[in-house]
Amino acid sequence: MQQDICDPSSLPMPQLASCAARGISFLTDDALYAACGVRIAFTGRAGGASEGAFASLNLGSHVEDDPAAVAQNRALLLQALDAPDAQLLTLNQVHGDTVLAVKRGSADELAAVAAQARAGADAIVVAACEVAPILCFADCVPVIIVSPTGAFAVAHAGWRGVMAGTARAAAEQLAHLDVQAGAAASPHEALAGFNVYLGPHIGPCCFQTGADVRAAFAERFGNDVLTGDDRVNLAAALRIDLEAAGISAARVAESGICTVCNAQEYFSYRASGGVCGRHGAAAVRRCASCP
Ligand SMILES: [Zn+2]
Repeated sequence: MQQDICDPSSLPMPQLASCAARGISFLTDDALYAACGVRIAFTGRAGGASEGAFASLNLGSHVEDDPAAVAQNRALLLQALDAPDAQLLTLNQVHGDTVLAVKRGSADELAAVAAQARAGADAIVVAACEVAPILCFADCVPVIIVSPTGAFAVAHAGWRGVMAGTARAAAEQLAHLDVQAGAAASPHEALAGFNVYLGPHIGPCCFQTGADVRAAFAERFGNDVLTGDDRVNLAAALRIDLEAAGISAARVAESGICTVCNAQEYFSYRASGGVCGRHGAAAVRRCASCP
């Protein structure tokens, strides 16, 4: 079990700052990396090889971009994360609540998880080193959750995912892994020590919805998640759900960036009329950081 615990002490408070490497820039948390060996990234459009509507760091393989450019962009991201040899995992994201898990990172387990990922999933928990999930986004909320043990989760939360509690389910599964590994006495104790990062997404300034969606959000999360006459604050709803599960409010960091307002820097499905690339949320724990 020792190999699962990089640094059992508490994590630094979460903080997102811009970082550049290999010609791309991304938001990350350097203090987190130093503390537990987990490198996280919320990427943007800059850098990479894609052209036109996908220019230029498109990480999505399902948007009719040149597959060679997408492969090149993903490899570039792994290099920028300092993990060029990590096992890359992508999910067939379907706005559902399926959470996958990589516990040991064996070849058999990774093959099984890759098959599950192709069938459809919107979150993944990783307790193994050198396994790098890259999830794809264009307005939905990217969520990364990190445990002091070095295990982490990456989740995709559009409004359906927020309503389905996908990120919360990922946090709870991460907590169960910590308890199983002996790193926490209870899921609640584990959850209180997690860092949560909410990346660039369609903000409360721009997320207009129908009255039915607004009513569903108000019923589930309260009126405070409604903005103006016709908008919803997805990050506020996520915070309410995660805090109800036991996440500390002080341990949730937000980028504060709206993808629609910043469509030159980030891919936005709404701002582009539906044809665009995908930026990413990625994380990897480096083996070298383990005792
Ligand atoms: Zn906006």
